[in-house]
This record gives sequence, C-alpha cells and structure tokens, in this order.
Amino acid sequence: MTAKPCPGPCNNAWRRAEQQLANEGSPHDIPVTWGKPTHCIRCTDGAHTQIAELPELVAAISLEAVNGTAPKTTGTIGRTANPTWPGQAARILTEHIVEGLLGLEDVIRVGRSLPARDARGREGADVTASATFLRAHLHWALERYPGEADPASGETMDPAALIRHWHRGAERFTRRDARLEHHRVPCPRCELLTLFREDGDDYISCRNIACELLLTPAEFKEHTEKLARRHDLAKAA
Ligand SMILES: [Zn+2]
Ligand SMILES: [Zn+2]
Repeated sequence: MTAKPCPGPCNNAWRRAEQQLANEGSPHDIPVTWGKPTHCIRCTDGAHTQIAELPELVAAISLEAVNGTAPKTTGTIGRTANPTWPGQAARILTEHIVEGLLGLEDVIRVGRSLPARDARGREGADVTASATFLRAHLHWALERYPGEADPASGETMDPAALIRHWHRGAERFTRRDARLEHHRVPCPRCELLTLFREDGDDYISCRNIACELLLTPAEFKEHTEKLARRHDLAKAA
C-alpha cells in the first residue's frame, strides 16, 4: 500500500500551504507527514489515548449535569423560546458522544462481519463497553478509514477525527482545556453559557458541540450590546 499524507492535525499547516499553492501559486517548504499507511504514528497514538480517556471524561460531564451548568437567563424580554435547564448542555454533549461511539462501533462490526452489539441500555456501561471495543479495533479502523463510505449514510469518515472531536468537546466542557477564556453570556444560537475564545484564536466559539457557532469579535460585541440593552429594558419594565 502506498503511503498517503496523514489526514490528522499534524498536517494542518501543510494542507493550508498546499491550498495556497493551488489558489495563488505561492510555493512553500512545509514538510508533509506521511501516514503509516493512513495515519502517522503520532496521530494513531493520539487516537488511542483519547479513546481510552473518553469513559472518564463522559462521567465527568455527567457530574457537571448534576451540579448544573447553564443557569436560565432571567427577565421577561430575554426569556428564550427553548428554555434551558441546569445540565442541558451536559445532556446534549453526553448523548452526542454516546451516539457517536455506538455508531462507530456498529460500523466496525458490520465492516468486520462481527455479531451485532448487545443491547446494553445503560449509558455508563455503553460508553465503557464501546471504548473497550474501539480500542481493540482501532488499528483496523484507522487503516481502513478514511476513504470508505459508511454504508448507512454514504459519508466517508475518519475514526481518528471523530474521536478527536468527542475528546475535545468533552475536555472543553469539563474545563480541562486551560487555554480557554470563558465568556459568560449565552450563545446567540443555542442560548447556553458555552462561549469560549481559545488562546491565540480570533474567533469566539460555542463549545456546545450540537451548535459550534463561530463569532467574530465584532459579532460578539454586537451580541453582548444587544443583551445589555435587553437587560436594561427588562429592569425598566
Ligand atoms: Zn498525523
Ligand atoms: Zn451555541
């Protein structure tokens, strides 16, 4: 099998430079990281570590749900059409990750002609069992994907990218990502208190992975000013 450039984050700078080369003809000297054969060793190791850490991270998200993470916006004018309750963001994120893990497990079971997963039905048990299964089959899955379409959706998928996405969402949620600045105003789209700016990043992004809204600093400023005006109106009423 011939080696391909690793699809992982190790090649982010190289992909950007290649895009510029294609668009503007500007040459670059950024080296490419080759896959072995698909993903490079570092990205492969990263996926293994992340999948091993996921059960504990998902448990930590549930604890935040118990403690409450998203106090409701008060005031009549600012009231939302979809009221939030403490722990709603935790619920959304947990379901997103659990469904994703089970979905990836199912695709691998079909691809390897393995018997269908037992109906387990308890979230904690599901996460643990799925993560154990995925660790055992990750090498196979990483070599085979991306490039092969998921039989159900027809979409090509990269298990390493999925695992990275879940892990990052969980890490951000449980505030283990120290590079983040938390903006304590509700997201204009999902209304949760989930707006963050990453160190060195120009954008403010929503960490609710069912939303993932991106705001420019100007949009964010406009949003906070609008909220402040609403707040003043509510007080005056
Ligand atoms: Zn890589
Ligand atoms: Zn949002």
